[in-house]
Amino acid sequence: MRSFGCPQCRINISFETLNCWSCGAKVGFHPPTHRFYVIDDDAADVDGVSWEECANRREWACNWLVDPATGRTMCDSARYIRGRPSADETAALEKLADTAHWLRRLIYQLDHLGLPLESYHDKEGALAFDMFSSIALGHPVTIGHANGVITIDLAESLDDRRERLRIQLGEPYRTMLGHLRHEVGHYYESILVEKPGGELLDECRELFGDERASYSDAIKHHYKYGAPQDWRDSYISEYATMHPWEDFAECFAHYLHLTDTMETAGASGMMLSTARINDYDGPPISPRFDYGPEHFEVMLEDWFWVKTFFNRINRSMGDRDLYPFEINDVVARKLAFVHKVVTSAKRPVQQPA
Ligand SMILES: [Zn+2]
Ligand SMILES: [Zn+2]
Repeated sequence: MRSFGCPQCRINISFETLNCWSCGAKVGFHPPTHRFYVIDDDAADVDGVSWEECANRREWACNWLVDPATGRTMCDSARYIRGRPSADETAALEKLADTAHWLRRLIYQLDHLGLPLESYHDKEGALAFDMFSSIALGHPVTIGHANGVITIDLAESLDDRRERLRIQLGEPYRTMLGHLRHEVGHYYESILVEKPGGELLDECRELFGDERASYSDAIKHHYKYGAPQDWRDSYISEYATMHPWEDFAECFAHYLHLTDTMETAGASGMMLSTARINDYDGPPISPRFDYGPEHFEVMLEDWFWVKTFFNRINRSMGDRDLYPFEINDVVARKLAFVHKVVTSAKRPVQQPA
């Protein structure tokens, strides 16, 4: 993610900031330009136009601003949430606030990557999130995607529950943001690759397999037998082995992990001196965000050094690796395909002034 500055005192603030930690200014995030503005009396002056704070600011700590031309009270990120817990499910609603925060990060990144982004409000079959809690409902909520609608179990935002599942499933990584990135991968495969006459479909099938294979059979097989012994040779995760759709969605999620982490590092001015690392005297690495269509190799090389660095940092703190995955040549080809899908779908992005 980019680095943001306080509009009043210019000090670095995070994407989630409501009030500047240094000067105390009340600030709001302006989604079209990805910039922060000072809020006075519940509204921010954006080039002479008054943008209101989001109605979810207090309850959800949403710091996004609302376009006055829309006549709405909630920001754009809220327009993707279709189903939600009822008003009396207070514990579940708290989890919705947590999850809505990760959703804003997701929406921001998709927009920043220039991917087509439409809410179900504006177009039938476009992106929608149904967010329910399996605890509040008393029955399982299956995380998944169908026809633009992504279902999320809010109970997974409970750390103890999510961590238990992670261990039970033998996963090295499990987060709410990871779920969102994975599920939205299904959505983008459906609209960008599987669209009628899609030029990328044949290549996709060659790399990931034929997505027309029975999904219900694949689930049954996966939960009965697990992943094949040699899954590491061709997949980023065990879950990716289940069905071609899951393989693509896993790779899509990893693509979002890589691009966001590298942008954060690059936007903070990070440079890695590979010459400092024994037996390697390559050029310095300066991770960035905008790797063009032909720069996937560079991106992967940069990522190798960035993730190696952050894994070492985490171990220095006695924690698990930041990125506990291996990208071998087969997986790299799949990620290169995702890069192609994303960069060829890119619309012109408004650059922040
Ligand atoms: Zn400030
Ligand atoms: Zn909002």
